[in-house]
Amino acid sequence: MTTQAALSLFDVLSIRRDFPILHQEINGKPLAFLDSAASSQKPRQVIDCLEDYYRRYNANVHRGVYKLSEQATFAYERARGKVARFVNARSPKEVIFTRNATESINLVARSWGDANLREGDRILLSVMEHHANLIPWQMLAQRTGAQLDFVRVDGEGRLVMEDVDRLLTEKTRLVAITHQSNVLGTINPIQELALRAHSFGALMLVDAAQSVPHMPVDVQTLDVDFLAFSGHKMCAPTGIGVLWGRRSLLEAMPPFLGGGSMIKTVDLHTATYADVPARFEAGTPAIAEAIALGEAVDYLQRLGLATIYQHEHELTAYALERLSAIEGLTIYGPKTTEMRGGSISFTLDMVHPHDIAALLDSDGVAVRAGHHCCQPLHTLLDVPATTRASFYLYNTQEEIDRLAIGLERTQKLFA
Ligand code: PMP
Repeated sequence: MTTQAALSLFDVLSIRRDFPILHQEINGKPLAFLDSAASSQKPRQVIDCLEDYYRRYNANVHRGVYKLSEQATFAYERARGKVARFVNARSPKEVIFTRNATESINLVARSWGDANLREGDRILLSVMEHHANLIPWQMLAQRTGAQLDFVRVDGEGRLVMEDVDRLLTEKTRLVAITHQSNVLGTINPIQELALRAHSFGALMLVDAAQSVPHMPVDVQTLDVDFLAFSGHKMCAPTGIGVLWGRRSLLEAMPPFLGGGSMIKTVDLHTATYADVPARFEAGTPAIAEAIALGEAVDYLQRLGLATIYQHEHELTAYALERLSAIEGLTIYGPKTTEMRGGSISFTLDMVHPHDIAALLDSDGVAVRAGHHCCQPLHTLLDVPATTRASFYLYNTQEEIDRLAIGLERTQKLFA
């Protein structure tokens, strides 16, 4: 199917019918939900899947020999397979279910990091990282004596690639960078970064919390080593996330958490550990949530990630045009849609970002204000906070008009 043909099939109004939460009024106005970068809404298919699990086959996995447990185990493992195919993993064994992207990154920092890093080693990050892809490395650096280096961003919110050349050395053991910034919307050249990291013998970890929900992501094409993302930003429930890792690396890594389900044999003083992925899934996992993540993957794949990306691309282009025309409004991040996703952070002269969000809320428009868990980036941008509008498959041009009209009104009010 050509992109054009696919586009004509992208019927946003019928997609919206799948999302019950969108059909309500907030402060007497129809809800315009423009905060999907924080967490997406869920289609009825995913909500029904959760309910179906609890109504028909709720039981613990990998243990029982009875029918319900077998059904739950089958569905849980089938979801792992769906996620593996979704990111083009070589095997479902490379997919570890975690609570969220944050836990996935912490898993790598604790397990791979503690086992492999020494004083003097270096980790290359960027200044646009979410705290989830910063604090675990700060903590690892404190434990091991490793040091952190940071790639800067330019005036357009793009990575300064000369910094990568300058900072990557034989001492660099890991490059950990976000695929798409949750503040700037910048999409980073991950394939290129992985190539450069590998040429110095470093591993490449990608924080894909903002990319996997919005665009086709293929771990083999990107040729990365670890990829972390969260279910709740991609139409799935909260409480389920994914760490994809190259199998040879995962197999060599020690456990992160200890307990039931992650062992082969146990005596009072020692234990042997299960193979991956079980080694990294101690305790009862988020069974219903994992199965519902599989349903969310099906939902997104039915629409097609390239088509979803194209829809958001068009919304972003329109929003950039509308917002740029507002007097006193500054957009942080790329002003064009090239290598840019649908998160737009901005400030409005003389108006506090939280006041903007509160005024928009009175019009039923939900946006987020704050540092969006990227405090160092905001310090560099020299603003304590920004307001952020972010788009997903169910958003419309009309909602962006409402955002722009609300901002114009706010600007006049404070002028
Ligand atoms: N990385 C990025 C780029 C994010 O936007 C987020 C969520 N705001 C995270 C990591 C962390 O996701 P979670 O809170 O689901 O672990």
